Amino acid sequence: MNNQNSINLFKEAKELLPGGVDSPVRAFRAVGGQPLFIAKGEGAYLTDVDGNRFIDYVLSWGPLILGHAHPQVVGALQAAAADGTSYGAPSPLENELARQVMALMPNIEMVRFVNSGTEATMSALRLARAFTGRSKIVKFQGNYHGHADMLLVQAGSGVATLGLPDSPGVPAATVADTLTAPFNDIEAVRQLFDQFPGQIAAVIVEPVAGNMGMIPPVEGFLAGLRDVTASDGALLIFDEVMTGFRVHPGGAQTLFDIKPDLTALGKVIGGGLPVGAYGGRRDIMEMVAPVGPMYQAGTLSGNPLAMTAGIETLKILRQPGVWDGLEAMGAKLVNGLRSAAANANIPASVNRLGTMFGLFFNEEPVTNWDSAARCDTERFGRYFQAMLEQGVYIAPSQFESGFISTAHGEAEIEATVTAVEQALAVL
Ligand SMILES: *Cc1c(COP(=O)(O)O)cnc(C)c1O
Repeated sequence: MNNQNSINLFKEAKELLPGGVDSPVRAFRAVGGQPLFIAKGEGAYLTDVDGNRFIDYVLSWGPLILGHAHPQVVGALQAAAADGTSYGAPSPLENELARQVMALMPNIEMVRFVNSGTEATMSALRLARAFTGRSKIVKFQGNYHGHADMLLVQAGSGVATLGLPDSPGVPAATVADTLTAPFNDIEAVRQLFDQFPGQIAAVIVEPVAGNMGMIPPVEGFLAGLRDVTASDGALLIFDEVMTGFRVHPGGAQTLFDIKPDLTALGKVIGGGLPVGAYGGRRDIMEMVAPVGPMYQAGTLSGNPLAMTAGIETLKILRQPGVWDGLEAMGAKLVNGLRSAAANANIPASVNRLGTMFGLFFNEEPVTNWDSAARCDTERFGRYFQAMLEQGVYIAPSQFESGFISTAHGEAEIEATVTAVEQALAVL
């Protein structure tokens, strides 16, 4: 594969941007360290600056559930841009996106739009602390909730991929109230509540973990969290920034029928533009300024371009047959992955819920960070490079989820399974 233009651009970028990137995982550190620079995205495909074309399973790390440059989204954005990109004043589009979100996630009775998933989780936690008058929070090892100080403790995604310890620059006092427990371990959470009764404001969880690879919750884990938080008067926050509209149109809370008090959203909700949101019980959301005293604001929050991309994306997702198509393609893909691994005699565990999937090079079932960390990351690195050679672009780390879009049809899935068979054959 000729990638000379990417090599040159990356050299230049490293002089201009730390590591040549604006988000660490893009630097391909875990898989050789030479990222591809992208010229164009179209449907299920990415084209790099050397003209190489790939079937894309990263999809901007989740948001693009309709694929790249969906004509209806692009058309709506062009029309919206002509009317101005930001007003700093209310527009009807915010009501419209709020209604779309609530139609899919009835636990959200009121919502506040922000600009990223990081802002959404950070604000939801501030709100939980304001509402309960408590300081401590519980998060899970290997869950990633964005890069807010208080959440950079045993985090997943790039923090896990790069093997970073808790980041320097995070004052000890900022994380002193952050408690952690192993994912899928309800007993550990009960012990924290026994140890700190009446002091925990909230438990925040990725209801399906997607930032240490993709790991579904074990039976009873989410219900247990609902139980233990409710009986102590703490709030349950589902971070559905990744799972929202991806594991089910109504998110993990609909799929598993659990009612969180607050939900954080991002990624798909912006249809490829920067949007996040937090919402939930009306009595809690009425603490948010200007109705209540919990301050949170944003110059570009709810801007008409971002709202438009979100509205069009959710509208299309809700059309009859669209979700069934995604499920069918997802099932076809993971069946192909499983049989390719079995045929090549390579131990692998493959998970999927809706449009999120994951493959671990690991014999034992992966249920938490410790078991995820034991998988064969070196084999993953070789697999990643082999897949690129075959024209398939997957996340450059074992500790990330894969995604499909409505643009991934039979032809793309079949080509991908063939690529996997050939990649695994040379591992
Ligand atoms: C991506 C992600 C975030 C952070 O969202 P950004 O938009 O990158 O700030 C938070 N939580 C989860 C579960 C995520 O996957």
